[in-house]
Amino acid sequence: MVIVGGGPVGLAASVALSSVGVTNTVVEKSTEVYNLPRAIVMDAEIRHGLARCGLESQLDDVLEPMLAADFVDVDGNRLTGIDLHDVQLLGCPAVSKHFQPRLDAMLRQAARNKGAQLVLGREVVEHRVDSTGVEIALDDATTLHGDVLLACDGASSRTRKAAGVQLEDLGFDQDWLVVDIELKDRKAVGLPDLTRQVCDPNRPTTLVSGFRNYYRFEFQLQPGEQPQVMTSTTRVWELLAPWVASSQATLVRTAAYRFHAVVAERFRDGRVLLAGDAAHQMPPFMGQGLNSGMRDAFNVSWKLAYVGNGWCSADLLDSYSAERLPHVRDVVEQSVDTGRLIDQFAGRVSHGVSREAGYGGTRRARGYDDGVVVPGNEAVGKPYSQWHRVDYAEPLAFVALSEAPLTLEGRLGNVPVRSIRADRFLTLNHDVVVVRPDGYVAACCEFAELPGVMATLRERLCVVQ
Ligand SMILES: Cc1cc2nc3c(=O)[nH]c(=O)nc-3n(C[C@H](O)[C@H](O)[C@H](O)COP(=O)(O)OP(=O)(O)OC[C@H]3O[C@@H](n4cnc5c(N)ncnc54)[C@H](O)[C@@H]3O)c2cc1C
Repeated sequence: MVIVGGGPVGLAASVALSSVGVTNTVVEKSTEVYNLPRAIVMDAEIRHGLARCGLESQLDDVLEPMLAADFVDVDGNRLTGIDLHDVQLLGCPAVSKHFQPRLDAMLRQAARNKGAQLVLGREVVEHRVDSTGVEIALDDATTLHGDVLLACDGASSRTRKAAGVQLEDLGFDQDWLVVDIELKDRKAVGLPDLTRQVCDPNRPTTLVSGFRNYYRFEFQLQPGEQPQVMTSTTRVWELLAPWVASSQATLVRTAAYRFHAVVAERFRDGRVLLAGDAAHQMPPFMGQGLNSGMRDAFNVSWKLAYVGNGWCSADLLDSYSAERLPHVRDVVEQSVDTGRLIDQFAGRVSHGVSREAGYGGTRRARGYDDGVVVPGNEAVGKPYSQWHRVDYAEPLAFVALSEAPLTLEGRLGNVPVRSIRADRFLTLNHDVVVVRPDGYVAACCEFAELPGVMATLRERLCVVQ
């Protein structure tokens, strides 16, 4: 199994694959991890997923809880928002903040520790697919072979282009200036410890409290503003002046960016699978770019193990696209609406976006309704909310939770199915909850429905008879 791209998604995929026994090689053209921050937040699902791969203590060193998120008007009056103090999901803070170079370095070391081969400083220049596998040509004229190529090679993915996979453009491009600073004395400056969208009619602005002394500002560029002028040190400090003086912080990074909202038309092209920015890019307002990429990695890794172990046919990999594509498309749309809401609250446009799209609103990401799930219940196709309470030793097993003992071994062919006795709280008030290896609810049913549910899962898993 070859992963092209050792950014955070490629590295998370490597860790997840090694955790389920899939030998993998990561090819990354840079010898060092990218030293500037991009993503800032990690949600509870991803943190929990990485912790399940054995990285819990390392995560504690690179993450801190994000305490709140809101939208305010130009005078600082709160328009909508959410308080995240002490909000836990899956046993983790609902949202954590990080300094991405530290996170990436931790992931690179973890991938290595778990046995992946890291080929650093080498660029993939070509790949050829045939019925036996994928041949991957590197820029030093050597080749690698794999049964599958997982393309985590970022927004301008060579692999995606070579596979002829088009991007669907959801039509939201905006130019913003991103400024990361490191505060000398955070307490003295008194910047708010949260994520904040300042809905300023003249210039929508984002504040993001970062890990330790880091802090991010994002300024929406206005028509006619030239990136090279706006990124000059003088102009940047003028923009920062209402919040922080140049004597109180150092500039870490200044960049003018055009945010896109795009999703690949398919995430699987035979033996080539796309993940992370190679498959989707979104505006940053929900902080879901990297989270969505890591969600791809967790979704695909157990399926690759099932196929590699000979338990399921390669058709199972179609469920990767069937599950992840509509899910991430919805997240991209939500990120776009969050961006539109900033302009709307600022009185610059009237898009008619519901305030429920804002932080703390009721709009939720959709679940998986196609793929390895048996729809029919609200909990199905979403992360199992009590997964952290389940004693879990086998990373590749389906788990059936029930008050009564169940005998389900063999119902999914060679796929391991473990039955765990649990009270009605853990079974979500149903007779049985079936949870997949990635912690998603596959089915929720009553005893009488169980034979039919297992038969459907067997079919959807493409179990080899
Ligand atoms: C300003 C900004 C703010 C953001 N904020 C957030 C946030 O708060 N939360 C969030 O979740 N996301 C956020 N994101 C998005 C997030 O940074 C990206 O989604 C994430 O970095 C994508 O990771 P990736 O591994 O898919 O791609 P990348 O990080 O781009 O990694 C791709 C890797 O592939 C390598 N590569 C490419 N081509 C080849 C090749 N041919 N051969 C070998 N190696 C190759 C590259 O060197 C690179 O290391 C933000 C992005 C930006 C720009």
